[in-house]
Amino acid sequence: MDKSADPCVDFYQYTCGGWMKGNPIPSDQPRWDVYRKLGQDNQRYLWGILEKLAKETKGRNATQAKIGDYFAACMDEAAVEKLGAAPLKPYLDRIEALKSRKELPALLGSLHLATADDGLFFGFGSDQDYSNSTQVIAFASSGGLGLPDRDYYLKDDDKSKEIRAKYLAHVAKMFELLGDAPDAAQANAQRVMEMETALAKASLTRVERRDPYKLFHKMDLKGLQALTPGFDWREYLKAAGLRQLNTFNVTEPAFYQELERQWHSRSIDDIKTYLRWHMAADHAQLLSSAFVNENFNFYAKQLRGVPELRPRWKRCVALVDRQLGEALGQEFVSRAFSPQLKQRTLHMTRQIEKAMEDDIKSLAWMSEPTKKRALEKLRTIVNKIGYPDKWRDYGSVKVKRDDFVGNVERATLFESRRQLAKIGKPLDRGEWGMTPPTVNAYYNPQMNDINFPAGVLQPPLFDAKMDDAPNYGNTGGTIGHELTHGFDDQGRQFDAQGNLKDWWTREDAKEFTDRAQCIVDQYKQYTVVDEIKINSELTQGEDIADLGGLILAWMAWKTQTEGAKLADRDGLTPEQRFFVGYAQWACENNRPENQRVHAMTDPHSPGKYRVNGLVVNMPEFTQAFSCKPGQPMVSERRCRVW
Ligand SMILES: [Zn+2]
Repeated sequence: MDKSADPCVDFYQYTCGGWMKGNPIPSDQPRWDVYRKLGQDNQRYLWGILEKLAKETKGRNATQAKIGDYFAACMDEAAVEKLGAAPLKPYLDRIEALKSRKELPALLGSLHLATADDGLFFGFGSDQDYSNSTQVIAFASSGGLGLPDRDYYLKDDDKSKEIRAKYLAHVAKMFELLGDAPDAAQANAQRVMEMETALAKASLTRVERRDPYKLFHKMDLKGLQALTPGFDWREYLKAAGLRQLNTFNVTEPAFYQELERQWHSRSIDDIKTYLRWHMAADHAQLLSSAFVNENFNFYAKQLRGVPELRPRWKRCVALVDRQLGEALGQEFVSRAFSPQLKQRTLHMTRQIEKAMEDDIKSLAWMSEPTKKRALEKLRTIVNKIGYPDKWRDYGSVKVKRDDFVGNVERATLFESRRQLAKIGKPLDRGEWGMTPPTVNAYYNPQMNDINFPAGVLQPPLFDAKMDDAPNYGNTGGTIGHELTHGFDDQGRQFDAQGNLKDWWTREDAKEFTDRAQCIVDQYKQYTVVDEIKINSELTQGEDIADLGGLILAWMAWKTQTEGAKLADRDGLTPEQRFFVGYAQWACENNRPENQRVHAMTDPHSPGKYRVNGLVVNMPEFTQAFSCKPGQPMVSERRCRVW
């Protein structure tokens, strides 16, 4: 804390000033905050486990052998260096062999399996049908960009122009690393830029994408084919290992019409150039240091201001977590997560759900029919705490101790196929979207579940040795936050079953929108960095969840401590410690370059406003710190949605 600051003037400085001073950003990080620091502690812990499993090969079970050997292969930097760009060659050869547009679907189908992301022209995967959440269907989405957002290609300010120039130079350097002469590399980078800019123009903005109706265009194969007449989807599906499909959600049809224009108007050489760049970018981190460093130089150093590359062990632990996360997660959970902790968290979660029930029942602005539906949705929410009931089976992923890139490729293929295999099948409600060591949490509107991995239920966030006040402020606030996501601008559009279905009366929807607008108007006045303000249309869901979450946590804490005589500690009242406990998860230091990236891409407001923007709306805070009207942490016009 910074006790020299006045909590009624700048509560964030008061609670986080000491942390910010004592925790400068490490040279390999774009930002530093309480979550990331705990994430690094978890990583270090996993490093110890993995090193042991990599060295002592006797007595390991099959799962331990898999992650141990994977880690050993990843850490063998000399072997990686020796291979240079060789692991890319099979892909580049296939791209080079492309002779006509007719062959493009088959080529893309196989390259998409090998990359498992949306970097090559578009994304293709599986997700729940918005209109029938029990079924999984194919999703064809936008993609194909090398910069973090469409706006990077289209904005006209000096900083955006500067980043585009640096990106162009980076793409050219990557072509040079692939063997192109400097002139050709420049020209090729230029062509990539032109194609990506065309795709960026045809993509929806992040704010537009908050509206699920804008992303829901269910069609049959004929409908999809009509968007891209020159691209034979049967060939694509065959190459991706899929049998005939006839149900697709094309999230952005206009994007696919632009794809057709690009594929039709560009030369085969241009298409090959574009594919070479994206395959190289996709694989860069797996190749020799020339590629790793060039990739780091643009995406971390120039874009986010990071001075130094992360040491190899951190990159390898992160890769195991990404590719074999539920195998590594078993090791983590067995050591760092107890059944008692699970029970305590569940207890707190149920109290917060009860608080939301009371809150909904007491709302003056909502009519009975909508309340009934809201309560039905609330009661249907599934609480997932710690780790999945059933661990993912990685049995078919072959891992070799001396084949780092091969291991990564096989695990990527496993994940691509696993995702595609869900299509046409009923939903697996037990699946998790985060691995157990992850320091984060989420709500999924289609699953209608809240998820708290073991990694986030640890000190200094949840501390079993501390009393209720800071724990309810901190972890309670997080649980309330995820719960409130079920009822934010996006979540409220899905019903109890996770279907996109309007269950609001027209009047109640208007009441909600007016209240959300209060938050939008409040947060748009806050500055992220330099002249850039918060894009509060983008952050409104998170800002609504922050406020609603802490109100619920407060109610739950009052229930928990009813009738108890709570003592002051460290010169603070229990109420003050509740708010300090909340605010201290949000302490952060951030680099200005990275703040710019966040302003454009991150739906979360900066930590400072997740604290100060919230407490000004809570009369309980004003009272706890005896703040006076007119002071900065007292708002004249309080917002409240939930
Ligand atoms: Zn959130």
